[in-house]
Amino acid sequence: MKLAFIGLGNMGSAMARNLVRAGHELIVYNRTREKAEAIGGRVAASPADASGDCEAVITMLADDHAVEEVFFGEDGVLSAIRPDTIHMSSSTISTALARRLAAAHVATISAPVFGRPEAAEAKKLLVVAAGPPPLVERCRPVFNAIGRASFVAGTENWQANALKLCGNFMIASMLETFGEAFATLRKANVDPHLFLEVMNSLFASPVYAGYGRAAADQRFEPAGFALLLGLKDVRLVLDTAQECLSPMPLASLLRDRFLDAMAHGQESLDWSSVVQVSARNAGLSH
Ligand code: NAP
Repeated sequence: MKLAFIGLGNMGSAMARNLVRAGHELIVYNRTREKAEAIGGRVAASPADASGDCEAVITMLADDHAVEEVFFGEDGVLSAIRPDTIHMSSSTISTALARRLAAAHVATISAPVFGRPEAAEAKKLLVVAAGPPPLVERCRPVFNAIGRASFVAGTENWQANALKLCGNFMIASMLETFGEAFATLRKANVDPHLFLEVMNSLFASPVYAGYGRAAADQRFEPAGFALLLGLKDVRLVLDTAQECLSPMPLASLLRDRFLDAMAHGQESLDWSSVVQVSARNAGLSH
């Protein structure tokens, strides 16, 4: 396919490389131009320049603000995209913004992903799509090039964003439980790595093992997923909970944990560093 790829950060650059490897033709745009040049293909001068002549525009941007600027802003995607071009929004954004994208009279699907930058590089992402079925089907070659599996959450694009936010809520909850358990066990003089080994036997999952190791080793740099973005996702799942009138008391607690971490200067560390909040509360130095 002839594709435009906008947003070549940690995740986007790995996804774009896999699209090139799969034989797709890419036009790339990134606010910081050097990251686009590193991918190859035609480097566009603006989101509009990237979007005018392709089958699909894929956006993989930091947050709602970035998507609003790139899509609705001056020289944005909306000003140039053709009626038959699909906008595939892969950023983790609010359900409210996803609905605004769909209301912009552009053929739109949401396709957020699970997996860290290493998984993106290894083509092992889980892609969760939603939107009008014919549009989802047309994007299957993209899903196959970037992920190991894809799922369809519903026929309205924002349903994929709701699923993604609830998934990240599950991971954030797991991080909080690691933080509390590790803090208690450190004070009980039990080796956190031994605890992790036992827990891995109980909850066999690469996500559990990977984050558990980072927390046990207290290794939070380089950040695969910055704590600042983790707070964004907790905030967004609370917004979705409010829209759906579905209380999420644990998410409210997580929001305060992430705020505590931000107040202690952890915004650029990996989001797994939220475990340090529990350690500090327990009087441990880390
Ligand atoms: P990242 O490395 O920080 O990249 C963010 C991208 O957004 C960069 O291309 C950045 O451009 C661009 N951007 C930010 N603000 C912008 C603005 N105002 N205008 C134009 N471009 C802007 O983040 P990431 O880790 O790749 O994450 C991207 C998305 O994927 C996020 O929604 C995140 O929640 C989601 N996600 C991340 C992970 C993960 O583990 N990292 C996993 C799954 C999903 P510059 O290069 O110019 O800064």
